[in-house]
Amino acid sequence: MTQGVLEQASAEKAGSTATKYVYFFGGGKADGDGKMKDVLGGKGAGLAEMTNAGLPVPPGFTIQTESCREYMRGALSPAVDGQMYAALDKLEKLQGQKLGAGDNPLLVSVRSGAKFSMPGMMDTILNLGLNDQAVEALAKRSNNPRFAYDSYRRLIQMYGDVVLDVPKKSFEHIFDGVKKKMKVKFDYELQPAALKEIIAEYKKLVKKETGKDFPQDPKEQLVGARDAVFRSWMNERAKTYRRINRIDDWLGTAVNVQAMVFGNLGETSGTGVGFTRNPATGEKMFFGEYLMNAQGEDVVSGVRTPLPISELERVMPDCYQQLKGITSRMEKHYRDMQDFEFTIQDGKLYMLQTRNGKRTGLAAVRVAIDMVKEGLISQEEAIHRVEPNQLYDFLVPRLVEKGEKIEVLATGLPASPGAAVGQIVFTAEDAVKHHGNGSYPVIILVRGETTPEDIAGMEVAAGILTSRGGMTSHAAVVTRGMGKCCVAGAGDCTVDEAKKELRVKGKTFKQGDWISLDGTTGRVINGKLKTLDAQPDDPDLVKFMAWVDPVRRLKIRANADIPRDAKLARQFGAEGIGLCRTEHMFFAEDRIEHMRTMILSDSEKERRAALKKLLPMQRADFAGLFKSMESLPVTIRLLDPPLHEFLPKREDLLVEIARLEESKPRSPKLKELRPLLARVEELHEQNPMLGLRGCRLGIAFPEITEMQVRAIIEAAVAAKVKGGDPHVEIMIPLIGSIEEMRNQAVIVRRVADEVFKEKGSKVDYMVGTMIELPRAALTADQIAEEAEFFSFGTNDLTQTTFGISRDDINHFLPAYMKAGIFKQDPFATLDQAGVGQLVQMAVGKGRKTRPSIKLGICGEHGGDPESVKFCHKIGLTYVSCSPFRLLTARLAAAQAALEEKMAGPAHTNA
Ligand code: ADP
Ligand code: MG
Ligand code: MG
Repeated sequence: MTQGVLEQASAEKAGSTATKYVYFFGGGKADGDGKMKDVLGGKGAGLAEMTNAGLPVPPGFTIQTESCREYMRGALSPAVDGQMYAALDKLEKLQGQKLGAGDNPLLVSVRSGAKFSMPGMMDTILNLGLNDQAVEALAKRSNNPRFAYDSYRRLIQMYGDVVLDVPKKSFEHIFDGVKKKMKVKFDYELQPAALKEIIAEYKKLVKKETGKDFPQDPKEQLVGARDAVFRSWMNERAKTYRRINRIDDWLGTAVNVQAMVFGNLGETSGTGVGFTRNPATGEKMFFGEYLMNAQGEDVVSGVRTPLPISELERVMPDCYQQLKGITSRMEKHYRDMQDFEFTIQDGKLYMLQTRNGKRTGLAAVRVAIDMVKEGLISQEEAIHRVEPNQLYDFLVPRLVEKGEKIEVLATGLPASPGAAVGQIVFTAEDAVKHHGNGSYPVIILVRGETTPEDIAGMEVAAGILTSRGGMTSHAAVVTRGMGKCCVAGAGDCTVDEAKKELRVKGKTFKQGDWISLDGTTGRVINGKLKTLDAQPDDPDLVKFMAWVDPVRRLKIRANADIPRDAKLARQFGAEGIGLCRTEHMFFAEDRIEHMRTMILSDSEKERRAALKKLLPMQRADFAGLFKSMESLPVTIRLLDPPLHEFLPKREDLLVEIARLEESKPRSPKLKELRPLLARVEELHEQNPMLGLRGCRLGIAFPEITEMQVRAIIEAAVAAKVKGGDPHVEIMIPLIGSIEEMRNQAVIVRRVADEVFKEKGSKVDYMVGTMIELPRAALTADQIAEEAEFFSFGTNDLTQTTFGISRDDINHFLPAYMKAGIFKQDPFATLDQAGVGQLVQMAVGKGRKTRPSIKLGICGEHGGDPESVKFCHKIGLTYVSCSPFRLLTARLAAAQAALEEKMAGPAHTNA
């Protein structure tokens, strides 16, 4: 949607000298406003809006996103420079200063800012304009040489890193070296002489690494910084972030050039960040952190642990009140919780940023409910304020503590709620490695502090622990967005990244050791606790879902195989079971033997004997399901997977036989294993995914279908006799033709009639099929002659439409994502153009033959918001998903219905 608009805008504007590339803000008014996020980016639009509202914002100008797109295409219009210098001129006049010149030099920040906020993913440079002369002028004018040199060394460091590609580590090495030599703990304790030494070393480093001196010309600095910000849009971590958050690569970033205000001027200066409500819980309380005598990223970088904003109330009550007033005004204005950044220079407050704050799912629901109560938003808006995936937070695990010995190692900040129990690793690379090879089932990433470079490791970890940093540190912000647990700033922990050790309370933990994290309380606990998941009766959640449910048209069902899952599904609001996989019932210890006997037998008679043993077990399973689901529909799929899944692995058998032949050649076990191996080899398929499975099993061995149908119908009749009202839907898997469907439907109906006759009682039931092969979709009109319902098995349908095995996609998915061939994993989000087209076609054809046909989807996609919205659009009856995706699916379905209502009545309903 946005892309279309942008492309159009680009096409219209490309190359045109009339394009307005630069938007000024300052002196009480701005060229742009808060609605112009496409053009100005979120930050630029926010700065314009705040300026227009008369708030104290340092003046400056925004170079709009079109320039970034031009830069990416290698065609930056010359008009950009012209407009930029004109704006700089205006800024200099307004401030009565010159960039980097004179006895009162103007300094600016050069800040990235895209349409969607990408915290910390792109670059920003502060104190730009400083050079060898300007720093002296600044020292003199401010009467604060420490501040001036500190600002200069920050510029060289940031500029060196961002623009000149000098390794950050090399700067840090110099910095830490001097700090050590001077025996100081905090950066701000460094005296002018020491800072001068650092500056000299930095300049040497730049010269050595780049072959050139650090640029002394402020305009050269400005152009360098601007272009580096453009480039930072395309850096790897930004690309990764966009991929995870599905942000289009072509949006581009704006660049904000803004007069500096200084938080590092001394003890009456400082810098901070905050939220108008608690981003973890949603509680309505002013919330934030700040540091005195600090600049820029000092607060969020986690280098120093910041102070709570309440402390500011004590130290600088005027600033505090003003800040509170401004931010609550901003909240009312934007009608959403705000996340803001500010700086205090010599006791005077400046606003540097405001945006709608990121929050946990718990907070999102709470804030939405509160804002309806406060009259800020409507109920319908509230439904849109929560991202469907975020409801997962209500299902995050909590630690089981009752009866456990809890050894709290440290208490950090409860940065992102939930619990994680896992094995620790110390680098993002190790996290990715141990996740990739499956050696650690659950990973906890332990870092001093995280940086955007850690993003890939954070993605695979279940929880994050940092020893430094606050509630707004990188680790905290990113994990909240990801919905995973984080304990930040656990100061008692020493994280030795070089040695890969965590030391706390006199204990040393190494890679692979187990710890338990509680992100809701901030506790770090020794060892491997159990976790408890899901709190479906949380009062906020219940209230919110009561708004959500009446709005949607789609029914929501769950995929559940056993009564326990069925109960869970009902707690989360399932209106039926959309997929019960009967094979899962055969893996239980007391059954797999009979299953194997059945598979190994070479006569129908033997097979029937084994099936007879399975019959009562299967019947009992179904009885349990019908009981849990009462009169809600239950779709049961007949046996689907290839038979070899029930047998031991060929390799294991070979090893075992070889071992016995060596050690106990006369063991009776060998007599058992040899024929088993022979059968396993006989059943071996080159490509089991496309082999003897699905309805092919029931066609090759009709007695399997007979047994399963008997178990289902007997259980249903029994339930009915006991006063129940079961609604059974029997589903034939992997049909590709009407003949296959008919073959199996005949058996189903025959056996059902037999049971009805035997029991002298009947139940209603339906026979239908999965549509999971392209041929089934293509011939859906024929198949609907037999099938009373379709359930789209979009996992197999995706596999067979793309010709990609779901189990092997990981070998090339990263390359496909990187090359932009896939925007997302087609097994996670339905490919609407291809697979979706097949689904839509089958819907049309099925309805043509059988207007009343029931239509659902039971693939993994049933729990993916985008795919759910698609299912709504094409008029399916229901989606079915795992119990843990139910809340998400319910909300996505409601949002789809509301979006349709807003778009008007012209929706496609096949
Ligand atoms: P990000 O998008 O990563 O938050 P910003 O552009 O907001 O990057 O810059 C980070 C921080 O740098 C700000 O929060 C603020 O503390 C500081 N900063 C940016 N511009 C200025 C400025 N003009 N004056 C003082 N500090 C600034
Ligand atoms: Mg910022
Ligand atoms: Mg399938």
